[in-house]
Amino acid sequence: MMAESTDLPEKPVKPLDSDCCGNGCVPCVFDIYDEEMRIWEQECLRLQHKDNEHGNVSDSEDSGNEEPALSKDKYRRVEVISVTMETKDSARYRMRLPRGKSLGLSTGQHIIIRGYLDSTPVTRQYTPISSVEVKGYFDLLIKIYPKGQMSQVVKTWKEGEYVDIRGPFGTFSYKRNQCQTLYLLAAGTGIAPMSQVIQAVVGDEDEETRVRLIYACRTYSDILMKDELDAWSSFWNFSVIYALSQESDEPSRCYRYGDQVHAGRVSDTLLDSELGNRKENFLVLICGTKTFEADMIDHLKTLGLSEDKFFRF
Ligand SMILES: Cc1cc2nc3c(=O)[nH]c(=O)nc-3n(C[C@H](O)[C@H](O)[C@H](O)COP(=O)(O)OP(=O)(O)OC[C@H]3O[C@@H](n4cnc5c(N)ncnc54)[C@H](O)[C@@H]3O)c2cc1C
Repeated sequence: MMAESTDLPEKPVKPLDSDCCGNGCVPCVFDIYDEEMRIWEQECLRLQHKDNEHGNVSDSEDSGNEEPALSKDKYRRVEVISVTMETKDSARYRMRLPRGKSLGLSTGQHIIIRGYLDSTPVTRQYTPISSVEVKGYFDLLIKIYPKGQMSQVVKTWKEGEYVDIRGPFGTFSYKRNQCQTLYLLAAGTGIAPMSQVIQAVVGDEDEETRVRLIYACRTYSDILMKDELDAWSSFWNFSVIYALSQESDEPSRCYRYGDQVHAGRVSDTLLDSELGNRKENFLVLICGTKTFEADMIDHLKTLGLSEDKFFRF
């Protein structure tokens, strides 16, 4: 075990047992901690022996043409190109990648971001919302929680700043025409992996899969990626219903013409009307808060769906 010194980077903080959701995530918060410890120990060794001028963090612009943009066990540094507020508490961050390079994610995969809060490292997982195909940059959509640790770091990001990332992570795998219908159950920033899936399907002329998004938000103005959702709705195989838990029953005049809105939460009844008694070959993808995901799984089980019919990001 490495000796601690004031010249060495802060040691990663071990997650509490209560930080684990118990859902068997890959990687789990404890896997991330083990890997952070390994990187920390390597970084300490490097600083002590000064045997490597480039260290564990490499600037993605300087990482050479042959290296992939991402590494699972070594942080790469990417530059923030722009910050745009999306709603009152969520913003989009565009990050630069070396020219001609994509992140190298497969659909639905995510990355780990490391930031420093009062010099203590904080790591969290984020799923880029840009298509996995896009080159030269990628986009993140991040909600800022008033008391969130990483939120305190993210809200200070501005153009020209550098951020440490590693990856890719995630076990989801999607194959073209894998099923006839994909039902996407998302809440809030849970739209992030769904946006990759939607782009993969609607952008592929050989896809015959239909995608139905059931998107839970508090109000109409909390809907994330609305411009993209409107654009994707013009494809024959994509449609969305917004479940607004804090909107009044009266359809608001400011809704876009044609928007399908359900006033209330995603309930057993709504799910039953959407996917009860379906005969076609379908798969349900779920992403949102822990409570939302647990509720959705309960509802799906009540509808008689077996576990191979749904996937939780
Ligand atoms: C695979 C994966 C992908 C993810 N992708 C994204 C993404 O693209 N965009 C994004 O914004 N987030 C995403 N997250 C969530 C993200 O990793 C962090 O958990 C989130 O940003 C909060 O981190 P924090 O350090 O600011 O808050 P923390 O310090 O971890 O939490 C502090 C407090 O914030 C509140 N809080 C935190 N998270 C939630 C939540 N999900 N729901 C309700 N309250 C909460 C709670 O009050 C909590 O007590 C993803 C998570 C996973 C596992």
